[in-house]
Amino acid sequence: MSKKDKTGPESGVPVTTGLGSEPDLRQRAEARLAGQENPGMAAFMSEPTERLVHELRVHQIELELQNEELRRAHESLEASRARYFDLYDLAPVGYLTLGDADRIQEANLAAATLLGSSRDHLVDHPLTRFILPEDQDIYYNCRRELGSTGEPLSCELRLRRVEGHSIWGRLDISLALEERSDQPLWRVILIDITARKDGEQDLIDTRERLRRVAEIAELTFWEWDVSTNEVFFPPEWWRQTGYALGELPLRLGDWTALLHPEDRKRILDHLKHFVEAPGTPGEIQYRLRCKDGIYRWFVARLEAIRDARGVLARVLLVHQDVTRRKECEDQAVRLAQHDPLTGLPSRALLHQLADHMFASARRSGRQLAVLFVDLDKFKPINDLYGHQVGDQLLQAVARRLRDAFRAEDLVARVGGDEFVAVLANIRDGDDAARAAHTAIEALTPAHRIAGLELFSLPSIGISLFPRDGDSIDGLIQRADIAMYHAKQTCPGHYQFVTEELNQQARTTLTLESRLREGLKREEFRLVYQPVLDTKSGGVTGVEALLRWPLADGSEMAPLAFLPVAESSGLIHELGHWVFQEACRQHQTWRQNGLPPIRVAVNVSARQFHHQGFQQQLTAAARMAGVDPTALSLEVSEAALMQDPKASRQVLKELKQLGVLVALDDFGMGYYSLGELENLPLSRLEINRTLVQRLSVEGRMPAIVDAILCLGRALRLDITAVGIENEEDLESFRHRDCDQVQGFYLGVPMSGDHFTDWYREHSAVVQ
Ligand code: C2E
Ligand code: MG
Repeated sequence: MSKKDKTGPESGVPVTTGLGSEPDLRQRAEARLAGQENPGMAAFMSEPTERLVHELRVHQIELELQNEELRRAHESLEASRARYFDLYDLAPVGYLTLGDADRIQEANLAAATLLGSSRDHLVDHPLTRFILPEDQDIYYNCRRELGSTGEPLSCELRLRRVEGHSIWGRLDISLALEERSDQPLWRVILIDITARKDGEQDLIDTRERLRRVAEIAELTFWEWDVSTNEVFFPPEWWRQTGYALGELPLRLGDWTALLHPEDRKRILDHLKHFVEAPGTPGEIQYRLRCKDGIYRWFVARLEAIRDARGVLARVLLVHQDVTRRKECEDQAVRLAQHDPLTGLPSRALLHQLADHMFASARRSGRQLAVLFVDLDKFKPINDLYGHQVGDQLLQAVARRLRDAFRAEDLVARVGGDEFVAVLANIRDGDDAARAAHTAIEALTPAHRIAGLELFSLPSIGISLFPRDGDSIDGLIQRADIAMYHAKQTCPGHYQFVTEELNQQARTTLTLESRLREGLKREEFRLVYQPVLDTKSGGVTGVEALLRWPLADGSEMAPLAFLPVAESSGLIHELGHWVFQEACRQHQTWRQNGLPPIRVAVNVSARQFHHQGFQQQLTAAARMAGVDPTALSLEVSEAALMQDPKASRQVLKELKQLGVLVALDDFGMGYYSLGELENLPLSRLEINRTLVQRLSVEGRMPAIVDAILCLGRALRLDITAVGIENEEDLESFRHRDCDQVQGFYLGVPMSGDHFTDWYREHSAVVQ
């Protein structure tokens, strides 16, 4: 039976058709009929007929009305349907319907776009085809659960787009039992969550990286509420300190209680200061007692956190465990403070430790002794048997020295073969003498090294505190002078600082500072003494001699200040100035029309063996615009003797530069004649004192003839220095000596004076 059958107008039951209620329909039909009725027609009908006709008309109009309404409803449905499909397709989320075996039955445009395919290509394919194999379990589990509970479910998994690359998708799956199908249908809403997932992954990666950086850098943070004094520690704090969650400090006082007692006040002061002036960036270093009872070093950086009003509310402390760095630093300091070869304290540590000893001696009114120990003959052993043997000898000496003194005495190595001992608590000089004697005795027996029996006795200088000075530097310096004196006069023994030695030290110190000043104020001058060819009398060159004019109009002799310039190292600066000045003068003479006159410059031992020596020479020549060959050098035998091997090398290099080198004061030293033959020298100078013996003794000393003979044999020019009269000159002329120099021939004179002298002299000689 159809609905219509049950709900006719006769039934009198107002049934809803969905298009309008029956009474409403009838009324509207009646109303429409009333508008259409032709009253004239009724006059020809009986009343029943008229009613029937009327009913039929009403019914007919009702049908018309219903048809109209149905048409409108259909149109509206069509419009809704069109709107629905628009929405379905234009929806920003994908929508799929899955049928049997997860085959896609319907897909909206968004789903097709999401999967990178056309709608037609999706239909009939199982959805799993678009899920990455490794994520398919997620989907199946979800579906299984949905199958059993019927409750909608979501899952997040990676979808493989048709062209191959994958995206992250969220699937909201629900069951849709369709009336016309016995198979369950699944509705799947598909949302692209790649951006979110990437963001999440980035966040996870960034967090992980930060965590690892913090872990590697042993970095963490904590906060301190300055108004309540509460402190907040992150749980990671345990990693650094070992404290469990329940043991974390809650108030600032709990934290400061863990600080090393030596650091506590300093840190509290710093925090207080930071709160008062929070703008200043702060850093604190402290030791904190960790759970295992061990103090670890931390560095914390303080940052102010302000409230909305800009008032300091909390302090953020980003802190780092720097224990390992501190340990390395301490080790580096320890290493730097100890001599790696002997393990004895180095000079720096000697100063530190001696300062304590001096402070305590001052407090207790006791005396101290400083012993400067220098090994005799160490250098020849080192040169002869090599550095390995030399090192072992130094180690053995250090051991014996250490054992020779008491435990409270300080023994340090301060140079190659130099040691300093500071003796604590001595009663008088006798105690110090006894200790020095013990040390000498300890070093007397032979050292057996590498199958050799080596002997190296020490010379010891002794200074006393407070008698000879009250600083470690001063006392070491005086003990050094005493040691030097012992070495000169009685090697292998000790020597106390005497008043005379003290005076000498004071003079040296004063002279050293005056030299420094003099250099700064450019007080030095060069004078030039001519060197003549013995036969022709012509000028072969000049010797540059250093002068230091004093304020009172006198001059200080070079031999008075040169040793101090040497020992203080000022000779390098002074020597450099001499090179520059000699080059400048050479150039001036040339500009004044003189021929190129070779200037002989004296070079001290320390200068000659200094690394930058040749460079100094060439730089000075370059600066003056002259060739380095404008200079020649005079070096003493002693300078060459200091290190014959190195000397030979320097001489070779000078020869390559074209710089001639003369051996100064030959005949006074003890240079091995065999060695002399191997040296690239150009000239020998006969020492002035040998020449002067001629006048004193009335005859030429045999050594002078020997030197002349040797010079000829080695093809070296020979200059006799100190010719003071015609007789001297005649003697050397007679002996075919190549060159002569002396007051009789030309005194040392200024550069300007030499210009005039040269012109006059040349006129006479020609
Ligand atoms: P030296 O190299 O033997 O220089 C020659 C010295 O003999 C000069 O003494 C010179 O004035 C002096 N003399 C020359 N002829 C006679 C003479 O007929 N009679 C006497 N009694 N003396 C004569 P000066 O100028 O006092 O220099 C002394 C030493 O100082 C030089 O001895 C040299 O070794 C050193 N010296 C001078 N200037 C320099 C310099 O610029 N650098 C370095 N390192 N040493 C220098
Ligand atoms: Mg000379």
